Amino acid sequence: MTRIWFRDPLAIHLGRDTDASRAARGIVVDTTLGTIVELVPAGVEPAADETFDASAHVLTPGLINTHHHFYQTLTRAWAPVANLPLFGWLVNLYPVWARLTPRALELASTVAMAELLESGCTTAADHHYLFPDGMDDAIDTQVSAARRLGMRVVLTRGSMSLGEADGGLPPQQTVQDPETILADSERLVSRYHERGAGAMTQIALAPCSPFSVTTELMAASAALAERLDVRLHTHLAETLDEEDFCRERFGLRTVDYLDSVGWLTDRTWLAHGVHFDDDEIARLGNAGVAVAHCPTSNMRLASGIARSVELEDAGVPVGLGVDGSASNDASNLIREVRQALYVQRLRYGAERVTSARVLDWATTGSARALGRSDIGRIEVGMQADLALFRLDGLAFSGAHDPLAALVLCGAERADRVMVGGQWRVIDGRVSGLDTEALIAAHREEARKLVTG
Ligand code: ZN
Repeated sequence: MTRIWFRDPLAIHLGRDTDASRAARGIVVDTTLGTIVELVPAGVEPAADETFDASAHVLTPGLINTHHHFYQTLTRAWAPVANLPLFGWLVNLYPVWARLTPRALELASTVAMAELLESGCTTAADHHYLFPDGMDDAIDTQVSAARRLGMRVVLTRGSMSLGEADGGLPPQQTVQDPETILADSERLVSRYHERGAGAMTQIALAPCSPFSVTTELMAASAALAERLDVRLHTHLAETLDEEDFCRERFGLRTVDYLDSVGWLTDRTWLAHGVHFDDDEIARLGNAGVAVAHCPTSNMRLASGIARSVELEDAGVPVGLGVDGSASNDASNLIREVRQALYVQRLRYGAERVTSARVLDWATTGSARALGRSDIGRIEVGMQADLALFRLDGLAFSGAHDPLAALVLCGAERADRVMVGGQWRVIDGRVSGLDTEALIAAHREEARKLVTG
């Protein structure tokens, strides 16, 4: 058993409405248990085997990303779609993505997770919905990549079943039949899904969106998630185009559609949730549906500004997501915290959207969105998932309040990151990873993908 004392942090953020003075002298982690075992108040010297001097660091719970598409790191900043909104962007990208290979996905997932880790993220949800020929083991590939990096993940078995021929948006070669999708979902849950505190790998079910999945598959996925007791994820209310699609095809607004397929439950978390009216926000809050707010993606595609504060006030757990790298194009969660602060201030004003509030979205709120109560806060008994950001660089010189500085001055990367009591980032780099070799191989796959 090794007890590490994170001694005298410059500042510490324990979690929402939690008095940081309870840990004025830091915290103690047990690396064998992988949990936080002590908060150290002023005047106390705890027993420890090792000490980490945190006097130049802001210590936060490990950040939690609730929405991503790792494979899209292969199509970042691709010129043909750099200036298009969602539907045009998708229609141009689908044929490129349809050429995805297992090797490309493995590299793309590793790149995305490494980038997230270096930004202070300890848990990542990925939404993978592309299973063209030869990609049957896509989620298995991602499980292996996550295990190699030691990152905590919620990998969703995404799906598309409504192709162009039937009035959907994606080309026919990228959709699957519902029997294949549901059988593979069940296989993945029984093979990989861990339950309870400290789970490193979880599986959720994630039909892609109203315009790429049939009504029948939406309903069947909800029933299967209920039977297997796993979470449900999809894109909803991202753009007004999508709202028009739902009205024309189903004669329903997006939340009515969600209700009609049995998804208005606290098992569900939605990506984006930009276009909800007052009544819909209240219904989502009552049902306990969570929302992954993806500010950069929403700005990049000019989709709109999510009503995140009203959602949260209505009882909706609000988390943060960087979204896929073709619409962000960075997998940097601490930067996303800053983006959330600024775009939400435009809607709600400076006083209601504080650094602490957006940091809570990326930690406590994200944990709730993923149905987790063992991560997202610093407290005795919680998983030792931690991010430490140095504030002694040029960008922070002259800053006063460390927690505000972390967000306002624009932290870019964590100095140290711990997942379940294990160091995964040391001196700003993912430990044990040959980053240069990874970048070279990933760039080559990215080039091959767009050139066919
Ligand atoms: Zn997305």
